[in-house]
Amino acid sequence: IIQLYTPLNWFGTYYRMIQSAFVDMESMFDLLTEEKEVKDDVNAGDLLFTEGRVDFQNVCFSYIAGKEILSEVSFTVMPGQTVALVGPSGSGKSTIIRLLFRFYDVQSGCILIDGQDISKVKQNSLRSYIGVVPQDTVLFNDNIRENIRYGRISASDQEVEEAAVAADIHHKILSFPDGYGTEVGERGLKLSGGEKQRVAIARTILKSPRIILLDEATSALDSQTERNIQASLAKVCANHTTLVVAHRLSTIIKADQILVLHDGRIAEQGRHEELLAMGGLYAAMWLKQQQTPESEASTDEQPQEPR
Ligand code: ATP
Repeated sequence: IIQLYTPLNWFGTYYRMIQSAFVDMESMFDLLTEEKEVKDDVNAGDLLFTEGRVDFQNVCFSYIAGKEILSEVSFTVMPGQTVALVGPSGSGKSTIIRLLFRFYDVQSGCILIDGQDISKVKQNSLRSYIGVVPQDTVLFNDNIRENIRYGRISASDQEVEEAAVAADIHHKILSFPDGYGTEVGERGLKLSGGEKQRVAIARTILKSPRIILLDEATSALDSQTERNIQASLAKVCANHTTLVVAHRLSTIIKADQILVLHDGRIAEQGRHEELLAMGGLYAAMWLKQQQTPESEASTDEQPQEPR
């Protein structure tokens, strides 16, 4: 029986590994199919990371020939700063984040990290410095401990728990039937949107990347969860160059710089107070959010369109 069982067990293990790998790929912004477009130069070297300055210089990009999604986008994120991207749905906010992670290469212009063109360095090297907290975090069919450890597979159990504490999800995990051993994912315990996002934050804390890309969830969270998430994010992002696609006001107010995207261009740029004083697109978006109940508030809506 043991002889028969061993290969079956082995098969089960590998089946789970392969399955996890698929979920993993899907989780990276659903970009599975397009990723092959990006190839490393034969001479590509490693990114020499120094302080974490990000420059977009006249970046133009389209997914489909003839339909430009970003036009002449230029901006700088100084080391350690937080930049918030806001604008109507479809204006190109997530695309900017995908380009910085190099899911695609730009059509013209360039993206620099510490003065080095990211299309000229090895993808693995680039990505080792960048952590992503996506809108929808996919959990693998494994226990919650391994789901967090995925941020850095060499992390010890203690490090996993410390990351969970920092991401404010440790107590929640202890309330699960088997604590850290609780199976999650499709066949296990279902986690709420806010809990999954905190898993993503815990993974990012373990990875401890130099640059953080955040695609905030559009879905409304209750205000306590929201505060918890903001607090844990503030810890992760402190002194790290951060780009955040912002859907909620709390992120925007404190950002060092806000970029307002409209039809693939930067329409306005500045700090919260400066943009309010300009009385333009941002001011209109802000006013609209102030008038909307908190649970429905999102900066994505076209300011001029009535609900
Ligand atoms: P949202 O706030 O709704 O997430 P966004 O501002 O982040 O929107 P993007 O996701 O950057 O917008 O998309 C910008 C445009 O590019 C949209 O018109 C979208 O339909 C298009 N687009 C996004 N991904 C692809 C893709 N893989 N192939 C073709 N077009 C795409």
